[in-house]
Amino acid sequence: MPAYQGSCHCGAIKFQFEAPVIESGLRCNCSICQRKGALMSAFTVAPSELAITATPGALSTYEFGSCVAKHHFCSKCGIYPFHQTVKKPGHYRINLGCLEGIDTSLVPFEVFNGAAIEV
Ligand SMILES: [Zn+2]
Repeated sequence: MPAYQGSCHCGAIKFQFEAPVIESGLRCNCSICQRKGALMSAFTVAPSELAITATPGALSTYEFGSCVAKHHFCSKCGIYPFHQTVKKPGHYRINLGCLEGIDTSLVPFEVFNGAAIEV
């Protein structure tokens, strides 16, 4: 499996993981995803498989509703590199726009009806 490297915009948060070749993405219509507009990974990454390096204080977390999902963002540049899902608590979906070598305008996507499960 290829190794992927990613970062927020300012570089305070860096991360890497291995995954199958990325050929599609996922968009979600829940209240937070539609505001972010990010193209997410269709796969999830186990916590033990995602190596995160962040300068102290950079990695911030936003929660709402049931607080099962953890929406992580950089406190310096505001970019949202990954979140931990409701579907598979603790597991991450990755913001494909934060990955090196991925042009998200070329990646087809499916839509997840997250609005339907929002609490
Ligand atoms: Zn940043």
